Amino acid sequence: MIYFDNAATTSVNSEVLNSFNELCVKYYGNAASNHKYGQDSSRLLNMSREQILKLFNLDNSYQVVFTSGATESNNIAIKGVALAYQNRGKHLITSSVEHPSVLNAFKQLEEEFGFSLTILPVNEQGCVALDTLKNAMRNDTILVSIMHVNNEVGSVNDIEKMSEIIHKYPKCFFHSDTTQGITKLPLNYKVLDMFIASSHKIHGLKGSGMLIIKKNIRPLPLFSGGGQEDNIRSGTNDVPRDVVLAKTLRLEIEKTNKNYQHIKEINNYLKEELKGIEEVVINSPDINASPYILNFSLTKHKASVVVEALSLQNIMVSTISACSSKKNEKSHVLTAMNKGITIASNSIRLSFDENNTINEAKQFIIALKKILNELR
Ligand code: PMP
Repeated sequence: MIYFDNAATTSVNSEVLNSFNELCVKYYGNAASNHKYGQDSSRLLNMSREQILKLFNLDNSYQVVFTSGATESNNIAIKGVALAYQNRGKHLITSSVEHPSVLNAFKQLEEEFGFSLTILPVNEQGCVALDTLKNAMRNDTILVSIMHVNNEVGSVNDIEKMSEIIHKYPKCFFHSDTTQGITKLPLNYKVLDMFIASSHKIHGLKGSGMLIIKKNIRPLPLFSGGGQEDNIRSGTNDVPRDVVLAKTLRLEIEKTNKNYQHIKEINNYLKEELKGIEEVVINSPDINASPYILNFSLTKHKASVVVEALSLQNIMVSTISACSSKKNEKSHVLTAMNKGITIASNSIRLSFDENNTINEAKQFIIALKKILNELR
């Protein structure tokens, strides 16, 4: 199998899995129990939090909240914070190319809770221009959420410059959906008030993730419960799952530079080869782009048919993104990038990890050309 769908999910690192299995046997105590066995679990959880903060060079003005993944983390950061701080102001800002777990959370706040929402447009590279953000900021803006790396096309926003703009407004918090950038691209996370990770996108376990949040920010709990995770995310901790997130992150961060170079080579090769195919239009930007994602459209064939034909040859790629691909809709990201309906409804996303090779990229191009010829 050639697996080019790593933005949807990744394989589990065997070291992570082995640690998880060991922890499941050794640490089944409830971290909230007062007895020694429960406290062993609690201590381990807290050690893992400290390790995670260190990995991102953060001091203890931040805290790690373990969650079930990026969707939950985004919902806590957005709905939890907007609802808790609505007395300061009711204006919210996000961008048009966010993942549905961000966009729909904001839309719910607008439609059901009376917030005023500005959805920023993006430029042709899929990025929010700094001036666009600057002009949208208001004195009653309490939360801005703009993603680091876009999950469909790989465009990279200038989070550090955005933070300078946003933090001129002392009442406003800055959250970023960092799901597709974390451990892959460098970022000074100190410029953010909140950011997140989903373990299964970085060779960790499914059903696991985190929100890192400044300690002085107190989101409204979305679930009422026993007050676990500093009363931000109630429910008994899955201690082994939470604890191995520290290892998952460390193993990936150790390889950031090496992986980046390797994946850039694969991406460059594929981009050049794809440019040579007449009906292909590359959608991923040339600058400010993550090499982990390469998105292109077909102008003469249906992308869904080609993706199915590739799958029959054991080559796994995505149309739009895994979250939307079953709905057979046009991409909201490509539409926001002004790409037009043919391109926006016929895109294919390739997304890579360190296990992919140039040889796989070569096989992919051969298979794609053959399929396009046969379907003519
Ligand atoms: N944000 C982004 C940018 C993503 O790519 C994804 C996964 N497609 C999510 C959020 C949601 O992640 P999860 O399914 O792990 O909750």
